[in-house]
Amino acid sequence: MEMTNAGKVHYLEPAIFARHGISAQGFTSRNEGVSRPPYNSLNLGGNTLDSSHNVQGNRSIVARAFGTRVEKLVTVTQVHGTDLLVIDTPNPDYSHFLKLECDGIVTNQPGVMIGVCVADCAPLLLLDPVNRVAAALHAGWKGTAGRIAAKGVEAMVTLFGSEPAGILAAVGPAIGPCCYEVDGPVRDAFSKGGASWGEYATESGAGKWRLDLALANVHQFLDAGIPRDNIETTDLCVSCQRDTFFSHRRDRGETGRQMGFIMLR
Ligand SMILES: [Zn+2]
Repeated sequence: MEMTNAGKVHYLEPAIFARHGISAQGFTSRNEGVSRPPYNSLNLGGNTLDSSHNVQGNRSIVARAFGTRVEKLVTVTQVHGTDLLVIDTPNPDYSHFLKLECDGIVTNQPGVMIGVCVADCAPLLLLDPVNRVAAALHAGWKGTAGRIAAKGVEAMVTLFGSEPAGILAAVGPAIGPCCYEVDGPVRDAFSKGGASWGEYATESGAGKWRLDLALANVHQFLDAGIPRDNIETTDLCVSCQRDTFFSHRRDRGETGRQMGFIMLR
């Protein structure tokens, strides 16, 4: 995944998606927006103490950079669950989406920019270039333990006829195992979902583990039938990359949100 830009918006773009040329997608950085510290500057998350005027301005900057209107940039009220919003009709009523409590969006509608806002949690993107279906998912430890990545793939298969072998997946920048120590309740939540904890968590002390959220989601995509070559990741840790990304844990909650987004053309 390489950092690139659309106008002044800098973002990481998964190359395997870009190759098909049927969608715009990526993971935004924190720069070139209008918000002031500690939300500087491209804060795209509405659930912060940043001014809503600035957040709306930032959302407009991103929408315009990709040739759409801010009204068509769809995000939801994320609650660390696994429910998904499906947008499968032209000209939907955009005004009520933001209030919906869910953690992922799936659509087959061109021109609708779907996004998830994160600052440590993993943003996940899916694209089926054959059936032209896209998804954006929010995967923190709760969502990952709840298997939101697998649920996103299942929704594409059951609702839109996608074949897992033809789906492309990208795991965007999240907090890395270098900076993400978790405790027993987190491990228990993963174990309850039948996950093989040892494949992406390493013990770091008594009752403490370093969790690789990105890798846990890669495993879920593989288990769902997506080939390894169709999964793109990044080694960037948002907590280590202070100049480029927001990190909730690093900044003790006083920070903005970057976005994973995708829009079918
Ligand atoms: Zn780190």
